[in-house]
Amino acid sequence: MSSRPYRGWAALTDVGRVRSHNEDSVLAQPPLFVVADGLGGHEAGEVASSIAVQTLLDHAPRRPDAKALARAVRAANREVIRAAREGMGRSGMGTTITAAMVDDGNITIAHVGDSRAYLFSDGRLEQITEDHSMVADMVRRGQITEEESRVHPNRSVITRALGTDPNMVADTYEVEAKPGDILLLCSDGLSGMVDDDTIADILARVADPERAAQALIDAANAAGGHDNISVVLVTVEGTPGSPAAAASRSWLPVIGWVLLAIALVGAIAYGTWRAAQSRYYVADNGGTVAVFRGVPGSFAGLELSWLESESTVPVSALPPAQAARVRATIPVDSLSDGLALIERYREAAQLGIMPDESTPVDAPPGTGSQ
Ligand code: MN
Repeated sequence: MSSRPYRGWAALTDVGRVRSHNEDSVLAQPPLFVVADGLGGHEAGEVASSIAVQTLLDHAPRRPDAKALARAVRAANREVIRAAREGMGRSGMGTTITAAMVDDGNITIAHVGDSRAYLFSDGRLEQITEDHSMVADMVRRGQITEEESRVHPNRSVITRALGTDPNMVADTYEVEAKPGDILLLCSDGLSGMVDDDTIADILARVADPERAAQALIDAANAAGGHDNISVVLVTVEGTPGSPAAAASRSWLPVIGWVLLAIALVGAIAYGTWRAAQSRYYVADNGGTVAVFRGVPGSFAGLELSWLESESTVPVSALPPAQAARVRATIPVDSLSDGLALIERYREAAQLGIMPDESTPVDAPPGTGSQ
């Protein structure tokens, strides 16, 4: 909670060796640090990423506060959407954002997309954020390895970004770090070109943040520099264990265990609700196939699913087995997976065959089953 000056930080961005312009934006305005990787091409990507960074700077809290930082990211999302609507940049433009607030050992992060935050501590590099990308989903499902994800043809397809969905939700992380630990924020121009071991080697070898950031960019360029490269390094100051934590221990007995229990139930419900937010399933929505976000049913009186995308594909056009599966709900890993499944159903319904089961359906759709 001190406001003593930072021992060191650096924020660098580089066009790389292939692209003709840089669509990334970086910001270092202690205690706020941001990397944003713009999408949409020339006169769009850099517009989106700079609007996002500027809005974040305007709306960020003064101290690390995960909720307030997530709200600032939502404001940035609205601004990118509004700008595109009003003719700035291009429609369809978007940006990733990885924003960190660092105050002594307390690090708060809000994150959307495939830029990354890492913590380098005791010689080990750990990725804090989870990528919102198609290949990261595939790695999580065990379909490909981390190494394969680097060269996968769909490696740049991201599943969440600023600038498209007005209801977008940012992931937040709270990390306790030790003095001397290093926070690294980067765009995929670094993490896609340089593996974690090499990044760790450089951070271990080069103490000065400015020189270390340049060494990371040099490594990405040496590996080909296929994309814009952004690197923010922050050396963690001070000591973990803030006065706020001590204060909360002293007032805890006063409010008593009953209130604590209520808070705990609320926290569990909220945690379940948050977890449900990132899950999807395909189901029958009053006769047509639709993608829902969340989980079927409810928990502690909370409705845990939201209609995410409707379709015109009638459940009754599917053969009985498929229709039954849809009615029983089919979990999918992402909205794009759900939409892809519906597209397969639609094509198959039009062709009169079903995916995975090349059973011809002679009757026209809508009369074949049930
Ligand atoms: Mn990029």
